[in-house]
Amino acid sequence: MANAPYIVGVDIGGTKVACVLAEAGGRILARQWQPTRSVEGWQAVVQQLFEMTEQVLEGVSSSQVRGIGISCGGPLDSQKGIVYSPPNLPGWDAVPIKQLFEERFGLPTRLENDANATALAEHRFGAGRGTRNMVFMTWGTGIGGGLILDGRLYRGTNDLAGEIGHTTVLLDGPLCGCGKRGCLEALASGPSIARRARELASESPESLVWQRVSPEEVTAQHVVEAAEAGDTFARFVLAEAATYMGIGIGNVAQILNPERVVLGTIAVKAGDLVLEPLRRALAVHAWGRVREVLQVVPAELGDRAQDLAAICLWIED
Ligand SMILES: [Zn+2]
Repeated sequence: MANAPYIVGVDIGGTKVACVLAEAGGRILARQWQPTRSVEGWQAVVQQLFEMTEQVLEGVSSSQVRGIGISCGGPLDSQKGIVYSPPNLPGWDAVPIKQLFEERFGLPTRLENDANATALAEHRFGAGRGTRNMVFMTWGTGIGGGLILDGRLYRGTNDLAGEIGHTTVLLDGPLCGCGKRGCLEALASGPSIARRARELASESPESLVWQRVSPEEVTAQHVVEAAEAGDTFARFVLAEAATYMGIGIGNVAQILNPERVVLGTIAVKAGDLVLEPLRRALAVHAWGRVREVLQVVPAELGDRAQDLAAICLWIED
């Protein structure tokens, strides 16, 4: 029912699955979440999602539901509704999730990769409100992207548009999880920040970072915390990663001429510690005329993004 008041949103993550019933205006009416039963295989996770969906739909007739939106890590085919083999969901291989949900609930179902769905959510409810051309970038374990161009999600030819994390920003740079060298993700993601801190550990024995954690166990979070406490080494490592982000964003800005770039987790947590060096790099790597219309800002939705992302698949512009 195109104008039905309710939407079901399903978020499939590697550690957590969540399901919400929401109004099109974004109000969450019911919510379920559980740790992902990923070790039991994809069938167990789908069963888990079915049960949570049944719970949020309790007492709601299907004529009141516009549809089910599913947000999941790629690679996937949004048209066919098939999830291929996301790195965070071991054992998934061409799971026809859209068809499984439609057969089970008799409700139209849409599938979208999580970066795209979060881009839609930030555009409608968060830091991208009011923009026509917006780039959303996850900045955490990985660096993903979602492109809103002329007010609509741009997916590319086979759902691979916006993979900004895998643009090359350093010739012969570190090996990326995707198999290429020098990808932005290999230089600026959370694990890359931790790796860089580890590489430089012997040159910075006095750093606050090593008073709190060993090089083997360091994470980006440790680096951010030490940087916030004023540690010079931690600030250097963060600034270096942020500089690569500035180069990556400069490349995207030269191509798409967006009005806003909205950045996820690390920008939200570290704020100006990363945004200042990032903007300095951007000033070198993007034209003034491109920059004068461009704002680079942290995401606003935080934990709400996961709830809102999947329901955005059924909110028409
Ligand atoms: Zn890569």
